[in-house]
Amino acid sequence: MIIAVDGPTASGKGTIAKALAAHFGLPHLDTGLLYRAVGRQVMINGGDPDNPDDATLGCAFPESLLDDPTLRSEETGGLASRVSIHPEVRATLLERQQAFAHQPGGAVLDGRDIGTVIAPEADVKLFVTASVEARAQRRYLEMRERGEAVTIAAIKADLEARDERDRNRTQAPLRPAPDAILLDTSHLDRAAAIELAISRIEEMR
Ligand code: C5P
Repeated sequence: MIIAVDGPTASGKGTIAKALAAHFGLPHLDTGLLYRAVGRQVMINGGDPDNPDDATLGCAFPESLLDDPTLRSEETGGLASRVSIHPEVRATLLERQQAFAHQPGGAVLDGRDIGTVIAPEADVKLFVTASVEARAQRRYLEMRERGEAVTIAAIKADLEARDERDRNRTQAPLRPAPDAILLDTSHLDRAAAIELAISRIEEMR
């Protein structure tokens, strides 16, 4: 079974994807981490994330970079959203993601274009959304817990800029596949969102 989980930043898609992987006993790939690694590698190389050649060079990141905690930062998220615009970067990361999706037994992948580009044949497609206010509030609490000094207004502006870039790029823009199940998590806590996702999949099967 291939499960595709797409949605914007801080919608809860990563949490849901991880929980689905545990529930159904499937391996999980957070594809955003690959784009984050590319963005970080471009910085390490002293390159420009908006330059397609520099961004493509960033795709040759070492596997160990995927464990680097700086990949989780908001700053790296912004870099990821800039490098992910380039078709060359998307093409370079495509094969790796498709191979993961098609391993024997199946897999859960989360990202922006899993149900539309990486695995349009996925058995289950979820598109997870939440209002920008709910997403900013979640991100704010997470960052405050890590001791980072931020304001909700700054986070909201950053989320809106990333949403805008992800939705309006020509290559693999963020949008639900026509056959995706839509899950709005604005008013759900973590446990309720996971429970709803599992029950929607069980119903479908
Ligand atoms: O999901 P995450 O916030 O880690 O993704 C970081 C950025 O990587 C996104 O804003 C998006 O621009 C890009 N991305 C993408 N396609 C994916 C996963 C992430 O373009 N499948």
